[in-house]
Amino acid sequence: MAMQWTRRQVLTQMGIAAAAVHTLDPHELCCFVPAHAQTADKNLFEFKKVADGVYAAVAAAAYKINSNAAVIMTDDGVIVVDAHSKPSAARAVYTEIQRVTNKPVRKIVNTHFHWDHWQGNAEYSAANPGLEIIATERTRENLTRPDAGRGGIPFIETQLKALPGEIDKLKADVLAASGDTKKNLESSLQQTETYLQELKQLKPALPTRTIATTSTLKEQGREIQLHMLGRGHTDGDLYIYLPKEKAVVTGDALVDVMPFLNDGYPEDWVTTLTALENLEFTHIIPGHGEVMPKSALSFFRGYISELIAAVKKAAADGATLDEMKTKVAEQLAPKYEQAMSKYPYGRYRASIGINIEAVHKKVVTKA
Ligand SMILES: [Zn+2]
Ligand SMILES: [Zn+2]
Repeated sequence: MAMQWTRRQVLTQMGIAAAAVHTLDPHELCCFVPAHAQTADKNLFEFKKVADGVYAAVAAAAYKINSNAAVIMTDDGVIVVDAHSKPSAARAVYTEIQRVTNKPVRKIVNTHFHWDHWQGNAEYSAANPGLEIIATERTRENLTRPDAGRGGIPFIETQLKALPGEIDKLKADVLAASGDTKKNLESSLQQTETYLQELKQLKPALPTRTIATTSTLKEQGREIQLHMLGRGHTDGDLYIYLPKEKAVVTGDALVDVMPFLNDGYPEDWVTTLTALENLEFTHIIPGHGEVMPKSALSFFRGYISELIAAVKKAAADGATLDEMKTKVAEQLAPKYEQAMSKYPYGRYRASIGINIEAVHKKVVTKA
């Protein structure tokens, strides 16, 4: 059984002593609350064909999550969008790529700076001399800024400090648990220990080429447009658009799970998604979750805009943050809970309180 904790519950369990030694809430490490899912290394990704020579590498549920990747074949090499959370995950995708083609990976595109989308960059660089890593200028800046949020070189240090505490906590939880819960916790512990070892060895590879405006890559036999549409999930989001294949790769600006808003710009995000909607496409390769039809965009945007409206209204009515977390969560549940709880991670109930708090901070108090 997948266990779901709210951030509050986890913080409560961790206790003040743990927090004082910079133990980071594991759920704070990324984009949403992960589940204690079990994932064998060899089953980390499933390749799904989106168009001729275009694949979505859909990441399996894992406690230490991975982002999806898009794999785009050209006549002289491969372009990979997003590089997952760790070298072993990048190796898993790269192995799958080599089953499909013997051409080298020429380019990596990072959609944004979060840890689970770029920490595998170096693995591709090492295996493919001359590899270009492309991102927006802002994403490159974010990758080196200490205060950027949940990603970048400084965030590697943050994770290295936090992971031993997370491991101790998991060990204690394993001892206290039984049955399936114990098995899941053991898997989470093993993933976390492996992740720590990988992170200690990680040689960060930053983008080698940045773009400041929407650009087009004329690749062999393939047109790839890189769209900068405005702030959303972060202030440096990049959308990869294949006009002929009618596919778009969105990173976490559009996902099939609850979004992570803490480094985001909720009001801008709604507008940015409308700009994305103006492009002609049929398939969305999201940052997390399965490949989706275009109609998923308006549903996802609806969640963000209704969340903003509900939090604003509750604040105007004088609700406290805690009251808001209950009231708004119930208000939006009939429309969004089921659709946003498809996977063992990033589920509605685990994330709604965090989302409400983020919107309250960013839109109401503007703290
Ligand atoms: Zn992500
Ligand atoms: Zn993200």
